[in-house]
Amino acid sequence: MENIGSFVHIKKQNLHFNGCSTCEGHCCNGAKGFAVSPLILEDFEAVYKNFAILFSLSGEKLVVYVLLNDGQNYCKYCVDNLCSIYDQRPPACELYPISPYFEHLLVDTNCPSVNSEFGKSICSDGQLHSDFYTKRLENFVQKLAATQTFLESIHHLDHFDYVGDILGLPLFTYNQPSDSKYIQMHLESLKHFVDK
Ligand code: SF4
Ligand code: SF4
Repeated sequence: MENIGSFVHIKKQNLHFNGCSTCEGHCCNGAKGFAVSPLILEDFEAVYKNFAILFSLSGEKLVVYVLLNDGQNYCKYCVDNLCSIYDQRPPACELYPISPYFEHLLVDTNCPSVNSEFGKSICSDGQLHSDFYTKRLENFVQKLAATQTFLESIHHLDHFDYVGDILGLPLFTYNQPSDSKYIQMHLESLKHFVDK
């Protein structure tokens, strides 16, 4: 596959990561374009107590995101350029600048710490270094497929309410009674949407 914007495929890269100490929390800043991150089902549990979980559309497909900020400001948990909920930060924050894309692994070269010489090795010879591997990457394609199956099972246009846009992305909440633990977590998470 080709690179996606600043996200490059690890297969042709020899990249390093030089730490966050001199960065002003670039990846926590909505003004830099990091407002939402796509979720897989296992992420719900890790994010719903701290962030809103909202639905959107990608073409005809229903997708689900964690809303990390208002698209203009820093994440509310970013204090003095540090994460104040470090041990409970969303899985995507934990993985960044690595990002899985189906069976592929990408690295965001927009992260100012990603370079070809200094710091910990992220990847070489097409392999991700074990320091950057997290459990979220295990069986990722199967987890993505299970998430898509769940989303298809609830995808009826009348069952969603439009609640606004973030950086041009339309956002929806689910409006039907449901026993699904994922829908329960989505509904509970909405208190963070109100005070975003
Ligand atoms: S991961 Fe990259 S963008 Fe995020 S705080 Fe660290 S150096 Fe900055
Ligand atoms: S949870 Fe922490 S790491 Fe993630 S965007 Fe917020 S401040 Fe940054």
